[in-house]
Amino acid sequence: MKHIVSKFGGTSVADIPAMKRCAEIIVSTPGVKIVVVSATAKTTNGLEEFASKSLNAGDEALNLWESIFSRHYEMAKEAGLSQDSLIVMKELFSEGESLSLRINTAGQLSGELMDPVYSLGERMSALIFRAVLENTFRSNGQNKKVSYLNSREVMWTDESFLCANPLKDSIYQALSRQVNLEDETQVYVAEGFIGSTLDGRTTTFGREGSDFSAALYAEAIRASELQIWTDVPGIASADPRLGFPICWIPFLTFDEAESLALAGAKVLFPKTLSPVRSLSIPVFVGSSLDPKRSIGRERLGSYITHLEDCPSRLIAIASDRNAIGLIGHNIALLRDQIEARISKLDFEVRGVEAQSNSIRIVTGLSCDQNEVIRKIHDGLELDKGPFSGI
Ligand code: ADP
Ligand code: ASP
Ligand code: MG
Repeated sequence: MKHIVSKFGGTSVADIPAMKRCAEIIVSTPGVKIVVVSATAKTTNGLEEFASKSLNAGDEALNLWESIFSRHYEMAKEAGLSQDSLIVMKELFSEGESLSLRINTAGQLSGELMDPVYSLGERMSALIFRAVLENTFRSNGQNKKVSYLNSREVMWTDESFLCANPLKDSIYQALSRQVNLEDETQVYVAEGFIGSTLDGRTTTFGREGSDFSAALYAEAIRASELQIWTDVPGIASADPRLGFPICWIPFLTFDEAESLALAGAKVLFPKTLSPVRSLSIPVFVGSSLDPKRSIGRERLGSYITHLEDCPSRLIAIASDRNAIGLIGHNIALLRDQIEARISKLDFEVRGVEAQSNSIRIVTGLSCDQNEVIRKIHDGLELDKGPFSGI
């Protein structure tokens, strides 16, 4: 039986119309078993601000929390949440208020206090998304039960607040009790990013960590596919936001995608692939913004998988604060050709380090990294597709 885990990021679930687009994708994709959602766009940043404002006495923090909450409460009403679920929403509001008080009393913002504040974002969006999905199945005439899967009762972690590590055996045991894989009419909606210590304290996997949660769910149920739905139609040869022509990469190896994430490409949380690669669970990355182009065989997007006979190549460029990363299968074999080409481009290179799937270039301190990425991308003609040095 095919079981898919589908994760939707913050922009994908930003408001009710956005959630409806995601629900349409799920309804048109047979086999989706667990849906993992992030907090709605900008909410996690807002919660960070709320927590730090809570350090100072005054109404500023509570006003901010009230505005974050009210936006979600309006969404909840628009989604037609049941009275019981609206009561749960209101309990989250009170939880936020008491957390603010605890932070104020503690006088410092520990990870152990921050994580429950973070959790409010994903808990609100999961509650709302469950209702949107249930309604969408119903209006499409599909008889599905959509249950809430409480990540704080299955995603067991150690006590490393803000960057927790999963306790996989405990997760498997909890999921085998709480998820019915046999019943094809049963679908679950769970929060990304959050988990819990075995004694019930809320943890998170680190900012952007919902991708990792989804991969852990996929590993635990031995999914046939992990889908990461975001605001771009796949993985590109450079961050599409940089504003020059890029190309979309249809297939990447696990190593390539992992190296790209480690080099700073925001599209995937760096730890995401480790749970799925050993089971060879393919990962699809696509855009939730245009469901008509996201459904069916011809859907746009990138697949991350084991690729037989992949040539040595350069497929993408990314940067973190310290260096530019050139990524591609066995790219180290192309080092000389790449260095020769790069030496003709006009920027200062302070060091080059090659590993099998990435070449790290440390640029001069005065270099504008985005400008360097553009120069390398143009110079190696990456917009025409993977560079294989020919
Ligand atoms: P989500 O909220 O869905 O997790 P993110 O903002 O974390 O989405 O990741 C998607 C963003 O990653 C895109 O909007 C894009 O700007 C950025 N990004 C950076 N590098 C790449 C790349 N090589 N390919 C695709 N997107 C990239
Ligand atoms: N909501 C969290 C964040 O913004 C986790 C995620 O979206 O992946 O960092
Ligand atoms: Mg992300």
